[in-house]
Parts: sequence; structure tokens; C-alpha cells
Amino acid sequence: MTEKSVTSTRDIVVVGAGFAGMYLLHRLRGLGFNVRVFEKASGVGGTWYWNRYPGARCDVRSLDYSYSFDPELEQEWEWTEKYATQPEILKYANHVAERYNLWPDMQFNTAITSAIWDDARKRWTITTDKGDVVGTQHFVLAVGTLSTPKLPEIPGIETYKGATYQTSLWPHEGVDLTGKRVAVIGTGSSAIQSIPLMAKQAQQLTVFQRTPNFSVPAGNRALTKEEVVAVKSNYREYRQRAKESRGGVPIDFTPIPMFSVDEDKQQEILENSWDAADFARFLASFEDILINKKANDVVSDFVRDKIRSLVKDQEVAEALCPYDHPLGTKRPCVDTDYYATFNLEHVRLVNLRKTPITEITPVGINTTDEQFEFNVIVYATGFDAMTGSLLKIDIRGKDGIKLSDQWKDGPTTYLGIAIANFPNLYTVTGPQSPSVLSNMMVSIEQHVDWLTDLFVSMRNNGQTVIEATQKAQDEWVAHSSEVGNMTLYPLANSWYMGANVPGKPRVFLPYLGGVGPYRELCNEVASAGYKGFSIA
Ligand code: FAD
Ligand code: NAP
Repeated sequence: MTEKSVTSTRDIVVVGAGFAGMYLLHRLRGLGFNVRVFEKASGVGGTWYWNRYPGARCDVRSLDYSYSFDPELEQEWEWTEKYATQPEILKYANHVAERYNLWPDMQFNTAITSAIWDDARKRWTITTDKGDVVGTQHFVLAVGTLSTPKLPEIPGIETYKGATYQTSLWPHEGVDLTGKRVAVIGTGSSAIQSIPLMAKQAQQLTVFQRTPNFSVPAGNRALTKEEVVAVKSNYREYRQRAKESRGGVPIDFTPIPMFSVDEDKQQEILENSWDAADFARFLASFEDILINKKANDVVSDFVRDKIRSLVKDQEVAEALCPYDHPLGTKRPCVDTDYYATFNLEHVRLVNLRKTPITEITPVGINTTDEQFEFNVIVYATGFDAMTGSLLKIDIRGKDGIKLSDQWKDGPTTYLGIAIANFPNLYTVTGPQSPSVLSNMMVSIEQHVDWLTDLFVSMRNNGQTVIEATQKAQDEWVAHSSEVGNMTLYPLANSWYMGANVPGKPRVFLPYLGGVGPYRELCNEVASAGYKGFSIA
């Protein structure tokens, strides 16, 4: 690519106008950088723009899942429910874009398709599907971790003649399922949120389950004035506790080891956690749930008993009980009436462990022992998580090296922010950072703030190029996998491990060291003059 064909130049190009891209733009533009955000959707919000399926909502409390960077914003915005709905979060994203006048520097309906590093000029050349060719010093990938939807690999999928929908690409105008015979494939968070609502409309709902998941009740409700005041009157201190916590959400108690108390006490603590209706709190019931298999068994048994008590038909209940992974090693789900939905006459569970799908036909779905006919198939089959959207872009670093080649055995990064051989390229909430294991708002703000400080520091020092050293990256990857291997997470076939995408290397993708300790490590790197990077 020659400089001639470049149609515009920037200090910083950002891909994605989700919460990460929006905050990047706000901070960097405020510091005088010339920034352009490219977004393939027609609006802001990222996840909350795309995932419009019935029941889509946050499962981190709304007072936690929001920006903390501006005390005025957090005081003026009023969340209405404990867990915000997708429309409310999208409204919030639009409010932020409006309030900080982000619109002029964001370009919508435009996908970045390639990024080529020019070692002579020390700049990136970015190409879009609309023909833009942009030269930029820094290139920030705020592409999201759950932003590349995935269809299942089922023979005949393309032959189906009825209507099909993906939860992650739900039509903006909604879908009327009244009187329809509907199939849902998948039982992850998206399915578990949407199934009870789809069941309210559909004439018949058949759920195809390959792996049951653990789900805890949402206990969603309107926020009371008193609890909003309680948080807002002390928001600064509350946010600080979130930043120092392990998961990006303050927890009001210190967990103890499971076997430091007797069985009755264990059950009492678990009952209290169940009633608190909050998965982060539930996972924190005891300090060793995710590292001690025996402790995990106690909690898993507790939830399986809950499932048996909620579902009338005990054969169905048993099919809904997860046994193949320790609780928490796949992202736990949060639901409103999910298990009770299987008590309805017109809702049926097909256990694919017993009778796998053999093919999708023009009229429906065949399993090893039945042929089903449907008007609608809903795919709630997840994402190519954490690396999907990064690798969709043709990214070439020093000496033309392709990111997809460098990552053929799995992603390797320094701090989940930078990649050796790819100077001046940054990932927000990238692999080997806490990312999806946290309240993402906290992790997004931390990465954006860290990057902002870096860009200012480089500008102040007259530096133009920064690159993670191979040594620092190798050490970080080794540390990240060592921490992961101390836990039960690798025991699950989860998207955290890349296990849901055939051929994807099996690597534990996020960093398990905790949001607070990770922040300290990043701060130490910066204070030591960006230790582990070469800067010129
Ligand atoms: P995204 O919101 O994914 O935005 C990335 C944007 O980049 C997208 O708009 C995408 O279109 C754009 N993009 C990607 N590639 C390109 C390209 N090549 N060119 C142009 N544009 C591109 N997290 C929590 O902490 N709590 C929750 O309760 C929670 N619930 C969730 C529910 C659902 C249904 C899903 C899918 C995720 C959920 N998450 C949750 C994770 C959620 O993704 C993050 O909280 C957060 O919204 C991510 O923001 P982001 O800006 O990093 O990425
Ligand atoms: P997911 O958790 O990956 O679930 C996908 C489901 O599809 C799984 O049950 C999977 O089964 C099934 N599946 C995939 N391929 C299949 C096949 N060929 N045949 C049968 N079943 C198949 O995806 P998701 O539900 O969209 O959630 C992804 C993540 O987004 C969540 O973990 C969470 O982080 C986030 N999210 C959060 C919320 C929230 O409550 N705030 C809501 C939605 C999403 P297997 O398990 O057997 O692979």
C-alpha cells in the first residue's frame, strides 16, 4: 500500500463503537488526538446494538454495569431495574454518544477489513469495506469479545425453508412467534434468557440441548429509590471497590473455605447466596469453589437439587442437570423462570446427549430417533469468542507477518493489550486479560485509561513506536496459563477455552488473576517506563 492511496490520516484509528470504542473516542479526542472510530453497525452500543432477542439483558447489576468515568453522568442517568434490559442499555449508549457529542468522529456501516504495518513509515494503513484507506499512527481494536456470531456445523443447515433467527443478530423490528412451532438450538445464556419469553408466544417450543448449564435466578425487579440513593451517595468509593475487586463488582463479605464449616452451615450460606439472586455473589459464596473440585461438587449438587425442585417431570429435570463441567467453569447463566418453563405443556426438551441431531431438513430438524417439523428455528449457538473479530481483519505486522499465522496455536499477547511483532496495535479486553471474567465495564475503562496514559506519555516524550517484546509476551502468556491451570476452568469444554469452535486451538483465553491485581500489574508496567515494551 502506498501513501498515495491513503484517503485520510489520523493519530488513532479505533475499530468498534461499543462501550470500549466510545470511551476511547471520548478520552482521546479530549486530549487533542485526531481519532476516527469505524463501526460496521449502523449505531453505537456494540453487544447491545446486535443482541436484541427477547429477554436480552445484563446479568451484572445496572448500577455496576455502567461507565464510572464521569461522576455527573453516573448521577444523572437513572437505571430502572436491578438488571438493565437491552433497550435500556442501548438507550444509555446513545445518551453517552449524544452527551459527549461523539457522532462526528464515528463512521457507521463501515467494516475494517485490513490493517498493514509499514515499518519504514512507522504507521498502519487501514482499509475499510467502503473503500476508505486511512493512515494512522496507532490502531486500537475495540472489536468486542462476543461479537462474531457462530452458527452450528449441522449438515443440511442451508436447506431449511422456514424462518431462521440468530439471537445475536435479532431483527430490529422484533419477531412475532404467535401460533408458530419454534425450535431453539442451544442452552447458553442467550437461550436461557429468551426461552421463557419465546414460550409465552409460541404455539409449541422445542429446545435442543447439547450441554445443560448452571443457572441462578435473576430475581430481577424495579430498583427502589432508597437503594439507588445508597449507591449514588457513595458512588466514588463504590467504584473504587469495584476496581480493586476480583470480578469488577464489590462483594460485601469475605468468603471462607467450604470445608471450614459443617454441612448445615454450607447449605445455609448457599441458600442465602441463591436468594441474593446474583451470579457473581453466588460464585463467591466460598473462596474455593473454582479451585477445589470437592468444594465445587457441593455447590453443583446444591444447584442440581434446585433444578429438581423447580422442574416437575424428573426425567426432564435430570436432563437439565449439568454433570459435565464444574459449576462456574462455563459462564454461569442468570434466568427468570427458565426451569419452570419446562413445566409448560407446549414446551419440550430434546436431550441431544441421548438423541443427537443428525441433520437439518427443509422442514425441520432430525435427530437419531425423531423427525421434527418447525415454522421457525432460533440459533442461540454463541460466538467465536475473544479472537473471532480480531482474526476476521487481515492484520499484518512487521515483515508482513499475519496475525492469523502468529496465532495459529492460540492467541499470545502481552497483558491482553499488545502483541509482539505488531507495533502500535492494541486490543481492548483482549485475550490474556480479565475481560470476559469480569464486569466488562470496569475492564474496558481500565484498558482505555491505561492506553490513554500511554499515548500521552509517548507524545510528551516524542516517541512514535511501541512494541511488546517477545520475552515479556512469553512470560505473560506463561503466567496467564499457569494461573488458569491452578483452577478448575480447564476442565470444561467452554468458549473460554475456544472449545465451541471446531479447529480452534484449546487455550484458556481470559486472564484469571483478578481485576484488582491485574490493574496493579498494568500500573507497575507503566510506572516502570512501560516495562516489557520497546519504545522509540
Ligand atoms: P462490543 O460491544 O462487542 O462492540 C464491538 C463493536 O465492534 C461491535 O459493534 C462490532 O460491530 C464492531 N466491530 C467488530 N469488528 C469490526 C470491524 N472489523 N469493523 C468495524 N466494526 C467492527 N458483559 C458484562 O460485563 N455483563 C453482562 O451482563 C454482559 N452481558 C452480555 C450479554 C450478551 C448477549 C453478550 C453478547 C455479551 C454480554 N457481555 C456482558 C459482554 C459484552 O460484550 C461487554 O459487556 C461489552 O458490551 C463489550 O463492549 P465492547 O465495546 O468491548 O465490545
Ligand atoms: P454460548 O454460551 O456459547 O451457548 C451456545 C449454546 O449453543 C450452547 O448451549 C451450545 O452447546 C449450543 N450449541 C452450539 N453448537 C451446537 C450444535 N452444533 N448443536 C447443539 N447445540 C449447539 O452462547 P450464548 O448463549 O450466546 O452466550 C455467550 C456469552 O455471552 C455468555 O457466556 C455470556 O458471557 C454472554 N451473554 C450474557 C448474557 C447475560 O445474561 N447478560 C446473555 C447472553 C450472553 P454446547 O455447550 O454443548 O457447546
